[in-house]
Amino acid sequence: MPHPSRLAALQAIQQRKPMACVTTPSLEEIWASDVFTLARMKNALPKEAFKGVRRVIRDGGKLNLEVADAVAQAMRDWAVNNGAHYYAHVFYPLTNSTAEKHDGFISPQKDGQAIHEFTGKLLIQGEPDGSSFPNGGIRSTFEARGYTAWDITSPAYLMRTPNGITLCIPTVFVSWTGEALDKKTPLLRSNAAMDRQAQRLLRLLGNKDVAAVNSSCGAEQEYFLIDSQFATLRPDLLLAGRTLFGAPSPKGQQFDDHYFGAIPERVQVYMQDVEHQLYRLGIPAKTRHNEVAPGQFEIAPVHEAANVATDHQQMIMTVLRSTAKRHGFMCLMHEKPFAGINGSGKHVNWSVGNSTQGNLLDPGSTPHDNLQFLLFCAAVIRGVHCYGPLLRAVVATAGNDHRLGANEAPPAIISMYLGKQLEEVFQQFQRGEVTGSSTGDLMRLGVDSLPEFKKDAGDRNRTSPFAFTGNRFEFRAVGSGQSVAGPLVAMNTVLADSLEWISDQIETHLASGQSLEQCAADVLKQVMDQHGAAVFGGDGYSDAWHQEATEQRGLENLRNTANALPVLRRGDVKELFQRQAVISPVELESRYEVYSEQYTLAVEVEAKVALNIVRTQISPAVQKHLGSLARSISQQQAVGLNPDQRTLQYAAELQQRMQDQINALDDELHQLHHGDTTASMNHAANVLLPRLLQLRDVVDGLEGLVDDDRWPLPSYREMLFVS
Ligand code: ADP
Ligand code: MG
Repeated sequence: MPHPSRLAALQAIQQRKPMACVTTPSLEEIWASDVFTLARMKNALPKEAFKGVRRVIRDGGKLNLEVADAVAQAMRDWAVNNGAHYYAHVFYPLTNSTAEKHDGFISPQKDGQAIHEFTGKLLIQGEPDGSSFPNGGIRSTFEARGYTAWDITSPAYLMRTPNGITLCIPTVFVSWTGEALDKKTPLLRSNAAMDRQAQRLLRLLGNKDVAAVNSSCGAEQEYFLIDSQFATLRPDLLLAGRTLFGAPSPKGQQFDDHYFGAIPERVQVYMQDVEHQLYRLGIPAKTRHNEVAPGQFEIAPVHEAANVATDHQQMIMTVLRSTAKRHGFMCLMHEKPFAGINGSGKHVNWSVGNSTQGNLLDPGSTPHDNLQFLLFCAAVIRGVHCYGPLLRAVVATAGNDHRLGANEAPPAIISMYLGKQLEEVFQQFQRGEVTGSSTGDLMRLGVDSLPEFKKDAGDRNRTSPFAFTGNRFEFRAVGSGQSVAGPLVAMNTVLADSLEWISDQIETHLASGQSLEQCAADVLKQVMDQHGAAVFGGDGYSDAWHQEATEQRGLENLRNTANALPVLRRGDVKELFQRQAVISPVELESRYEVYSEQYTLAVEVEAKVALNIVRTQISPAVQKHLGSLARSISQQQAVGLNPDQRTLQYAAELQQRMQDQINALDDELHQLHHGDTTASMNHAANVLLPRLLQLRDVVDGLEGLVDDDRWPLPSYREMLFVS
């Protein structure tokens, strides 16, 4: 018989019925119905005002106040007609979360009446009390204020919650001196940098008509659903997002039966509810399926412009979480909620393109496209090789450390997979076997001899952290709970930088009288000579690769966040972001401070929760168990029997070890904040985490010994297999 609270949870779950299915009317009816779309804006605005808006969206620049007033009024009318009385500037602080500052449209009038009011000024700029958001020292050195400013490229929308409807306006969040305090500002800047450099190369390659280049992103979100009856009995899940204890279930994910099985009924109803809400928000949810682990699922939208996709990604996480509550689930976005069970990531599919040349990472089938494609692809190769450690740093979080490097997720070594065919093409250039015909047309470059690219690369190397998948790259090391902004900033910026380098090379070679074809061939060879070490198509999980990567290829293996985050302080990374005008040195330093503090905080919370669980739940249960074992033994001895005492001895031994471990953990926890941010992060990584593992070992051992009716924590078996 399980512990009374677990029993009650099990009984409650058995009586649960799925919520009623959300019946979606026609898609046309609900699609983007809660979004202040361009079409809605066009209908509501005077022609000239709308043109002004469109110009700013396309070319950047500032909206004049008159137009802003008109937009604000139209937005307000639409929102109020839909039942909203409040608006919120929504921004994305450095915490991976979404923040909102709510204000009412209400404006009391002199005559005692009240009206709805919303002006261009209020739309464009807000001033939330930013003091509670981490800033890594930026604000204390300047001024305590933070400002939000409307991001006109991401549409406003209505967020419906049981508490009401709010008009949400996506914004950037900056200090009054203009330093970015958020994730959106650098993303917009990185896109602009990539656009500048991509256009330059496209022109150099002879394209006459070149439109603005934008990055695209499609992120595949993995998550776990656990019945909330169980989740509420697990302080570790509630406070740390992952289980700190839990013996393995006799059956795990070995059979892969979850992956291939039907989506459980309750979960499917939940997913439909989520999708219904996402459609209203204009978020193109497209695929849903079970994932490898029991209780694990995935949702992926169709890719969109990176900035919009990033905002949408945050909304997807919000909707997944809030909808789970209504369906009696807890949605876990942690990268490793259950030890020994597949963790959750977020594959970030990324490409760059424009309306005139299309997707620049699409190999196409003509030689002309091939050359252009190969140069853009080479820029990515160079970027990944030069700044692999940076790509590692932008996915460094306490949660993701449990995943990266384990045999399920990409290794912590950043290499890239091109696919056999493309890798061979690059090798041909390296060997100089593909020679340009200097007499040929501008774009011929012997590329005639290249095979046509298969768009669907048949072999999809799942062990690579960064893979070319036919017409895009897929960055697979991103954590499930992370904002995708950081990874996108890094990818856009390293691409911008390499495109700049390539254009410089080509210009220099051209000036010395070489043909464009020859210049391009030289650049491709040079990239492979200098940076080909990042290209790897083999098994990224193998020990042999770890050795080869680090010893022969000079790639870094930054195993955890404490190793990876200091990359943000390296000179070359600082220069990269400064050169491309994406993140200033002050902003970068503040990011290092904030991210390392967050890491330390996450581990600190885990340690505190572990201590609390052991002291108030596990230890008393073990004491009682030992007491009853001892009683039973003495009762048997009293009647002349000679009972086996080994179980008691073993349990007592574990109990002692557990006591020793928590005493040590307690002491070590007290030393956490004795140095600077870096020292604390190292202490958390190198002292607290190994201790937590040792403690876990003992506790999990005890779980297998103590009477089931005394064990207070829902087991892995219950959480993962009862639904
Ligand atoms: P898989 O699980 O096989 O990797 P999915 O279909 O689940 O693939 O997800 C692929 C993601 O990649 C989707 O979000 C899709 O929209 C996105 N995607 C497809 N083409 C591109 C592209 N050119 N640029 C960016 N993302 C893309
Ligand atoms: Mg994928």
